[in-house]
Amino acid sequence: MGHAVPIATKEVKPVKALVYLGPKEKAPALQERPKPGVTAPTDAIVKMTLTTICDTDLHILKGDVATCEPGRILGHEGVGVIEEVGAAVTTFKPGDRVLISCITACGKCVYCRKLMYSHCVNGGWILGNTIDGTQAEFVRVPYAETSLYPIPAGADEEALVMLSDILPTGFECGVLNGKVQPGSSVAIVGSGPIGLAALLTAQFYSPAEIIMIDLDDNRLEVAKRFGATAAVNSGDGKAVAKVMTMTGGRGVDTAIEAVGVPATFELCQQLVAPGGVIANIGVHGTKVDLHLESLWDRNITITTRLVDTVSTPMLLKSLGSKKFDPKLLITHRFKLDRILDAYDTFRHAAKTKALKVIIEA
Ligand code: ZN
Ligand code: ZN
Repeated sequence: MGHAVPIATKEVKPVKALVYLGPKEKAPALQERPKPGVTAPTDAIVKMTLTTICDTDLHILKGDVATCEPGRILGHEGVGVIEEVGAAVTTFKPGDRVLISCITACGKCVYCRKLMYSHCVNGGWILGNTIDGTQAEFVRVPYAETSLYPIPAGADEEALVMLSDILPTGFECGVLNGKVQPGSSVAIVGSGPIGLAALLTAQFYSPAEIIMIDLDDNRLEVAKRFGATAAVNSGDGKAVAKVMTMTGGRGVDTAIEAVGVPATFELCQQLVAPGGVIANIGVHGTKVDLHLESLWDRNITITTRLVDTVSTPMLLKSLGSKKFDPKLLITHRFKLDRILDAYDTFRHAAKTKALKVIIEA
């Protein structure tokens, strides 16, 4: 047998990426990483243009997401330009501008065929979780044809970044599951980016009332500018009484939970009217009590969902026709070199008044 010959490695310029270093570290770090390459024929390599930070990234940093291991490049949102495609990718070519979905879909498995892409057996939420993500100069996107969307000519790319995750999440998990209807009443508990995304997209259906509930007066002010008909600060413990007064003692047809803690889900149980829907969006890390002793006879529905991003084509059309303006959610902008400052700004939202921060790669 011959002796081992070292394999010549092609000289590839490293690229900058924001790397998770584990929950014990104080902060993630901006590191140099090898530029990703195509590893499967269905892959595309995307040169990132714009990305953003999500609450889910903060959950990862706290150690709440066990599937995300130290060394992972974070991020699951953004837009960019196709750099390279695998041999099986025919609908995209280098130079195409694309929106990256937070959910990767193979398009072929049993869940994809049911349009439940979030549970794709080959994908789902993997970017910035089980594979390297978008807070980098380049990202490898598996199943590119069914996980990327072409950016329409002339589209505002900053606004489009909001379509990777938060708008389909607020819309699908909150508005669609919550069955928001013309003339109906809606309460949204949580006026952060996801709650505000639900607020923006609930208005597609012209509900009569949208009551925003939060502890932060600044975020409630923002909600009023975004179209909330009423804003309730729940800090005084009187939110239920206030909403009952506003709704003739009935409660709301749709109660959307957009925080992910026990108190807010329990509040939704107190706010929902007979025949109504509690639509959960929040990511829950601890158990929550279900008050069947008061709900058993009220004909209500409780829904849960991980965003499937099946509404992305519709949201792209609505954005193109200026039916809503997701750019309202953007409060701060940073270069990738300053992404750690972006994390600080996003993390201290009560002080900085941050909603979504845009990061330029
Ligand atoms: Zn996200
Ligand atoms: Zn699939």
